[in-house]
Amino acid sequence: MQGECLCGAVKFEIAGELPNLYQCHCSLCRKATGSNANAATLVHQENFKWISGQENITSFQKATDYRSDFCSVCGSPTPNPLRNSNLMWIPAGLLTGDIDAEIVVHFHMASSASWDKDSEHCIRLEADPESINSLNEMLQRTRC
Ligand SMILES: [Zn+2]
Ligand SMILES: [Zn+2]
Repeated sequence: MQGECLCGAVKFEIAGELPNLYQCHCSLCRKATGSNANAATLVHQENFKWISGQENITSFQKATDYRSDFCSVCGSPTPNPLRNSNLMWIPAGLLTGDIDAEIVVHFHMASSASWDKDSEHCIRLEADPESINSLNEMLQRTRC
């Protein structure tokens, strides 16, 4: 299985079966992704290989040790080795091709964003909204 960032500069390969995925809903992962949660998995370092673009990766570390590596060209989060382990952290959105794995764990739910809720009533479109205006109209509804 392969993965790459948005611009394609950073590419990597994972050997063997992909483990299932988790999402962390903590405030740091929200900032790092700009979204409600990250989505990732862990693979053994011996099953992980860089193909290209390692020189494009910037590593940011908070004083608390929270670390976020990202492509300095496009900003996608990129894999990074977990401290004190032989595991690589893999951002799931970078993986390409067919994936059998699924999300099996959500954590930091107690500190998740107030807007991070599943609702059966949400509008779900198979593709883009018709236009930016139609999207904007949907966003003006008081509740979905
Ligand atoms: Zn990139
Ligand atoms: Zn987190």
